[in-house]
Amino acid sequence: MKKTIPLELIAPCGMNCAICSKYLAYVNELDRNYCRGCRPGNKKCSYLFAKCSGINSALEGNASASFCFECDQYPCRQIDRMDKRYKENYEMSVKENLEFIHKLGTEKFFEEQYKKYHCSQCGGLISIHNRKCFKCHTVTKLVEKRNKKY
Ligand SMILES: [Zn+2]
Repeated sequence: MKKTIPLELIAPCGMNCAICSKYLAYVNELDRNYCRGCRPGNKKCSYLFAKCSGINSALEGNASASFCFECDQYPCRQIDRMDKRYKENYEMSVKENLEFIHKLGTEKFFEEQYKKYHCSQCGGLISIHNRKCFKCHTVTKLVEKRNKKY
């Protein structure tokens, strides 16, 4: 079974919006704070792009803005800070995501994301923030660490 994630759900910083709690709340129609995704919502990320003076400073109104690795300022202080925050809190590195996408492309990235963040019960995507499936409410532990050989 081939599962795919809409390309627009990969934010310029390498974050996969499809595994964000706020996006999962949106697709599962939960009555709480939700988000359609950084690109679809033209969201100007408060701790990254609000301070961006590189290629993504114009993200607003430009849903097809490029990935941060294409910027001549990459890696900038803002992305370093975000990378650190996600590594510390959620065991994910946006810089590694970007490197993966850069080298192997988005198809492979989606494949990897499904392998890593799927619900052990129903197979849907789980939240990176609390490892919870918003469909069946199962909490799944992360099984595999990313293979560093790319
Ligand atoms: Zn589930």
